[in-house]
Amino acid sequence: MIHIKTPQEIEEFKAAGSLSKTVLRRAGRMVRPGVTTREIDQMVESFIRLHGAVPGFKGLYGFPASICASVNEEIVHGIPSDRMLVDGDVISIDTGATIGGWVGDNAWTFFVGTPAPETKALCEVTLDCLKAGIEQAVPGNHIGDIGHAVQTLAEKHGFGVVREYVGHGVGHVMHEDPNVPNFGKKGRGVKLQAGMVIAIEPMITLGTYRNHTLANGWTVVTNDGKPAAHYENTVAITKDGPVILTEDPDGPWCPFQGGV
Ligand code: MG
Repeated sequence: MIHIKTPQEIEEFKAAGSLSKTVLRRAGRMVRPGVTTREIDQMVESFIRLHGAVPGFKGLYGFPASICASVNEEIVHGIPSDRMLVDGDVISIDTGATIGGWVGDNAWTFFVGTPAPETKALCEVTLDCLKAGIEQAVPGNHIGDIGHAVQTLAEKHGFGVVREYVGHGVGHVMHEDPNVPNFGKKGRGVKLQAGMVIAIEPMITLGTYRNHTLANGWTVVTNDGKPAAHYENTVAITKDGPVILTEDPDGPWCPFQGGV
């Protein structure tokens, strides 16, 4: 069932979105060679709780942390650990906060030092895929228009589109209907209407999009070991067009570069 939010509810939603973006940006500032993913997770959890909010991921389906920290070939759902980031890595951080009864959800892939040129290109194209998907989030369009825009752009550059993990409705809980795939056909799927709030989150791979889950039951990795990128915003569909809710005073976008 799709929950339609009133304009007033969308206004209230912005507190959760803004805090989610603020903490994601702060997480990005910690990204540099030598830092561990656990240290980033601990900062994120403290920051969210300090602001009277609750980490959206901790305990969700049993996930043990406040961020998903997915490094290089890890696509999503990486578990924070004592792994130290090294120059040339990329790290996808997915996090969100619940406050005022609403959940924010956003993700960003940051560069650790200097990534390989093809990895940098993958990240730039994946962010462009997110932007292309958001442009389609208008009343009267369909879910398939979002996926089509993301898939077309990614595949034009020869990159892979992950099939098994998708965007989703967001509201009082992290995952609501409808699913928002990163692939699809124009005009197909649920018709978009004002008041829907969805997380659009392209997960794009440098090589194959085929993937598997590690023995820890969480971490999803590419089958060929090549890197993946993941960018996400929570977006309200309104009669005036898409409104990105995961936006803080610096806007809805983080820098690619970690540590800044
Ligand atoms: Mg999400």
